[in-house]
Amino acid sequence: MTDDAMGRPRPEPGPSGDPISLAPAAPISFAGAISFGPDAAPVVAEPGSRNDAGSSDPVEGKLLIIGSGPAGLTAAIYAARANLQPIVLAGSTPGGQLMITSDVENYPGFPDGIQGPELMAAFRAQAERFGSRIIDVDIERVDFSSRPFRVWARGIEYRGDAVIVATGASALWLGLESETRLRGRGVSACATCDGFFFRGKEIAVVGGGDTALEEATFLTRFATKVHLLHRRDSLRASKIMVERAFAHPKIEVHLNTIVAEVLGDSRVEGVRLVTTTTGEQRHLPLDGLFIAIGYMPNTDLFRDILEVDEKGYLVVRDESGSQIEGVFIAGDVHDHRYRQAVTAAGEGCKAAIDAERWLELNATPSSSALAGQG
Ligand SMILES: Cc1cc2nc3c(=O)[nH]c(=O)nc-3n(C[C@H](O)[C@H](O)[C@H](O)COP(=O)(O)OP(=O)(O)OC[C@H]3O[C@@H](n4cnc5c(N)ncnc54)[C@H](O)[C@@H]3O)c2cc1C
Repeated sequence: MTDDAMGRPRPEPGPSGDPISLAPAAPISFAGAISFGPDAAPVVAEPGSRNDAGSSDPVEGKLLIIGSGPAGLTAAIYAARANLQPIVLAGSTPGGQLMITSDVENYPGFPDGIQGPELMAAFRAQAERFGSRIIDVDIERVDFSSRPFRVWARGIEYRGDAVIVATGASALWLGLESETRLRGRGVSACATCDGFFFRGKEIAVVGGGDTALEEATFLTRFATKVHLLHRRDSLRASKIMVERAFAHPKIEVHLNTIVAEVLGDSRVEGVRLVTTTTGEQRHLPLDGLFIAIGYMPNTDLFRDILEVDEKGYLVVRDESGSQIEGVFIAGDVHDHRYRQAVTAAGEGCKAAIDAERWLELNATPSSSALAGQG
């Protein structure tokens, strides 16, 4: 068994001793430029008034997809294969949340796991192969009051007869330099995704709400001990969750405690804690740190236009629809229950199929003309 960059054990090969191989045996190769990744220069329309075709005219298409995580890019694959020539407005995190994680071991089809950025590069290559046009810009304004729907980025207007919103959600972090440096190296924001890597290890969860307690309880399946670190003098979670946490033999609750620094060079080795009431500092040796202080859905642009729930997530009607006909929703931007790449991808598929059927029934003169060109 070898260790990965997180110092986490990699799984052994299959029972035969050889890794399971799928034809073709060659590594996945990416035709065309993959424009994201830490070292890649993003393909962007220049700030100002010119689009990537060099003119200031609006960019028109049958379908706009906002977001390029698993939901947006899966929607693009399906829509492109339905000949809708989708325009994907990829945002400032092309590839989405999986770009900030390392090993993904629960996405079906990869028995040995795959790196998050590599998985998303493959999604993107597949979307581009069928004719999706992907532009790495953040949408700044939208107008869904009439068709064609209009959105703007860097002074350029994009028009579509239908739109899929797949802008995801962003995990909230503590904001420490050491936390950012060790993300994917023992620091995580997803217990479902990364708990398995911490079998037999001692870890901590930061937070005091229901999610933090659920994650701490879930992580006791793997870890020898789970420290729950919370800055206030009581936990915000429901009474039953709090009672369970205090009673759990593997969970130790530390109130009035903040993480001042994550310790370790190439992987998490511990945390420096400060007791808020006394100012006392101490080191706690750990193998992993889960940040469970919440998620922020990326819905600011849509709050006055589309329905949001009490947590700010978009509300879906009839599987993938919104209250505006022709505007569809997919992925973590509405789903705060499952929050997984495979569920987001599934929703992207549903939204694309629904958009395609809706466009078929609701063709405008512009989309008919475009369809003729397809
Ligand atoms: C640390 C971590 C590890 C994880 N590990 C796993 C794992 O191992 N397995 C698993 O299944 N899941 C994992 N997840 C969860 C998984 O990443 C998400 O469930 C999934 O990425 C959601 O996909 P999405 O397409 O809905 O949204 P996201 O991946 O969040 O993508 C949102 C997209 O919207 C774009 N966007 C946002 N605002 C705008 C805008 N204004 N204009 C244009 N674009 C915009 C962003 O640039 C981004 O491309 C992990 C999450 C985290 C945080």
